[in-house]
Formats: sequence, structure tokens, C-alpha cells
Amino acid sequence: MPSITSLVNTVLKVYPSVTVTEGDDFFWSAREQTIYYDETDPNAAHLLLHELGHALLSHRQYDRDVQLIAMESEAWEEAKRLGVRFNVAMPTDVIEDHLDTYRDWLHQRSTCPACQAIGQQVAAAQYECIVCHTRWRVNEARSCQLRRYKTKPIKKAPI
Ligand SMILES: [Zn+2]
Ligand SMILES: [Zn+2]
Repeated sequence: MPSITSLVNTVLKVYPSVTVTEGDDFFWSAREQTIYYDETDPNAAHLLLHELGHALLSHRQYDRDVQLIAMESEAWEEAKRLGVRFNVAMPTDVIEDHLDTYRDWLHQRSTCPACQAIGQQVAAAQYECIVCHTRWRVNEARSCQLRRYKTKPIKKAPI
């Protein structure tokens, strides 16, 4: 498996339209056409190819949170293909752990604060419960960056 430094150099050579820059986390900025990466992450090579997957699939904004989950899966499918090409094995548990952070995030956002049923998203930052019709706001979904959501507290204010 190549080192993260040599993998970054390879990516820059093969995809000259994409910028790769060190940051404190991994994400793809469509606006800047830039992949940010953190070389200290033990899964740096996998996550770099995942972000490259977003880049090659031209992922941008999403209207609904479930679309983000779909884009995350697609980026990993692309990362697996890139892994074969660049000799980076893609362990299933790394992929599943990463997708789980998004699934947990979505679950937290979509759970009704009144009755715990799963609500449906009715606007960028609003959900409505299909059981008790409570509406609640969630943090604005990121629109210009695809970020990995860590275990951030989710604010839910019934309105
Ligand atoms: Zn992603
Ligand atoms: Zn409810």
C-alpha cells in the first residue's frame, strides 16, 4: 500500500483538475474543487480515495439528508474502484464505520422529539413527524461541503 504522501502525489498527477490540500479533517469542497485531507488519520489513504470519489462523481449540494447518505455510499463505491487502481485495499469495516456516522446523524435528526417516531424532512432544516405531526428544526445541512459528521450534539427545537 502506498504512503499517504505518495498517494497524494499520484492523485495530483492523474487528476490535475483536483486540488489536494492538508487540513484537519477529510472533505471535498465542490466550490473550491479541493480535497482536504488529514495525513495523521490512520485511514488517511482510504478517506482520501473516498473524497476523490466525491470529486470524480461531481457531488455538490443535496436537498434532503437521505441524498447525502446515498452520495456517501456512491463515493465509497468509487473509492473501491480507485483502490484497485492505486493499490489501496478498502476494508469493509472502515467503509461501514464511516457510513454509520452518517446513519447515526440522520437517525438523530429524524427522530421525533415528542414521540420518537421517525419523521420526514419537509425542508432543508425541518422535519415533521408522520405520527404526531410535531415539527422540529435541525441544524442547516451543509450545502457547499460534504463533511464527515462526527458525534456532534444535534439541536432539536420543537416549534
Ligand atoms: Zn463522503
Ligand atoms: Zn411524533
